[in-house]
Amino acid sequence: MSDQQALSAGNISEWLRCTRAALKDDSGAEVPCGECTACCRSSYFIHIQPHETATLSHIPDELLFPAPGLPKGNVLMGYDEQGHCPMLKNGACSIYEYRPATCRSYDCRIFPATGIVLTGKDRTLISQQAQRWKFSPSDSVDQQTQKALQKAGSFLRNKSKWFAPGELPGNSTQLAIMAIKVYDLFLDEGEQSIDDAKMAKAIIEVLKKFDAQRDPL
Ligand code: SF4
Repeated sequence: MSDQQALSAGNISEWLRCTRAALKDDSGAEVPCGECTACCRSSYFIHIQPHETATLSHIPDELLFPAPGLPKGNVLMGYDEQGHCPMLKNGACSIYEYRPATCRSYDCRIFPATGIVLTGKDRTLISQQAQRWKFSPSDSVDQQTQKALQKAGSFLRNKSKWFAPGELPGNSTQLAIMAIKVYDLFLDEGEQSIDDAKMAKAIIEVLKKFDAQRDPL
């Protein structure tokens, strides 16, 4: 069945460079989604920020509601009874050119890259798609990069007890993004000599530094 065929995820180092840059400047990812609309059909609430005026002008007001816990102007768009985004029409995004930044930056390659598995019954479509991606490491740098990402993902998954309450995100998407932000801590083989408590502390420090580099909106 063609749905199960492997998809080329590209070169891991190049993908990581672009993904980390996009996380800093909200520029969005160039994801070769093709005709896949799995994330548009997975019961996601789509966050839209106040500065996304072009997007907001293309979505009917009645589909939007204030985002809980966020400053005024931040809104969410829900989904229909099938879990589909209301802007998904005839199997495609009807506002593709103006789609929210949340949609532009959604890249399910973060799961195979970090070894973190997307869970939840509403996420089956994305999970199936994510499993199809295959990165193509070509040299030793790529191989080290891939290994470090997997180690970062594994640490965040398996060593949660070393983190303070609230330091780790509660969902697998944010956990995979966190692994991408801190992967370089796992590049050095010397990381094996750091105990878990110190590594957890180092992760939180690197994360804060990464987020401090984000472009102001
Ligand atoms: S706005 Fe478009 S890209 Fe975003 S979830 Fe809806 S249909 Fe998909």
